[in-house]
Amino acid sequence: MSERVFNFNPGPATLPLEILEEAQKEMLNYKGTGMSVMEISHRSKQFEEIIVGAETLLKELMGIPDNYRVLFIGMGATGQFNMIPMNYIVDEKAGNYVITGSFASKAYKEGIKIGESHVAANTKEVNFTRVANPDEIKLSDNPAFLHITSNNTIFGTQWKVYPETGEVPLIADMSSDILSKKIDVSKFALIYAGAQKNLGPAGAVVVVIREDMIEKSNQNLPTMLKYDTYAKNNSLYNTPASFTIYMIKLMLEWVKSEGGLEAIEKRNEYKAGLVYDAIDNSNGFYTGHAEPSSRSLMNVTFRLPNEDLDKEFIAEAAKIGLAGLKGHREVGGIRASIYNAMPVAGCEKLVEFMNDFRNKKA
Ligand code: PMP
Repeated sequence: MSERVFNFNPGPATLPLEILEEAQKEMLNYKGTGMSVMEISHRSKQFEEIIVGAETLLKELMGIPDNYRVLFIGMGATGQFNMIPMNYIVDEKAGNYVITGSFASKAYKEGIKIGESHVAANTKEVNFTRVANPDEIKLSDNPAFLHITSNNTIFGTQWKVYPETGEVPLIADMSSDILSKKIDVSKFALIYAGAQKNLGPAGAVVVVIREDMIEKSNQNLPTMLKYDTYAKNNSLYNTPASFTIYMIKLMLEWVKSEGGLEAIEKRNEYKAGLVYDAIDNSNGFYTGHAEPSSRSLMNVTFRLPNEDLDKEFIAEAAKIGLAGLKGHREVGGIRASIYNAMPVAGCEKLVEFMNDFRNKKA
């Protein structure tokens, strides 16, 4: 490929061209320092502006209330599968997990290693074609938290209405749909997301945490596993993923310049609508994996009449610059990840290809 493609990879994922160009422009000499962001001290005035800027922008864009902190942590979203139970499954309390896909299941399996962990609902029986209904969720006695995965990247399902948990802290892995739509942050005690989809490149996980959750986190943990450490030191106890955080800031500025979450949400609905319509209007040639009520706006999963056609579809699409469409091995078929940075034109080109391919093969 001599030109950039439409990149439907699930993460690391496509980034807006504008921010890549901005990073390229600043690559050799960041704001007159004579150094790249990768080379400046994480304790410098310039880096402080970057990390505080990223936190401030995220708060503004997501409408994060004042009694929450934004933390930048390493170890990816998977690291949170460990930190959450270590910090909160204490004092005979039980972690509660809703299992709606692979990552939700991984989170639960890490919980078990730490302490009492309970499956509050599970949609494996229906092959993870949907998320859980609120009335299916059964909490254990003495729950430490309820953990959900707001968007199931592999299966292409997404929560439309979040469970009401009252006093029980609601924790969400929003790795694959953070910043894709407006949400009421005050419903959540803790939100986390690996950066490599809607926030920037890989290397950091963003944690939005309510202050009381910092206060009640387990103090008897190794330094790097305590939320407290990150909160007390403004995520600078040690050297953070400085270049990733810089890219996150550029990404947040881009979201703001695009009109914020209201505009982004509308565009995401439009984009996903184009692809789902192509599935629904294909006379059964394309079959969606997700039940319509749980369809993700971020990851559209579907299959063709047989696996040979799946393969041919992926290969033909790649030839015309539609990359990264292979479904995850657990589901097979096709997955089009259409995060914030996927332009409408990418979805239009995909739909045109889907229709052409169907006309040729059906
Ligand atoms: N949760 C979800 C919903 C994900 O999609 C992913 C990665 N694709 C993860 C967790 C794991 O993220 P990481 O690779 O950053 O540990």
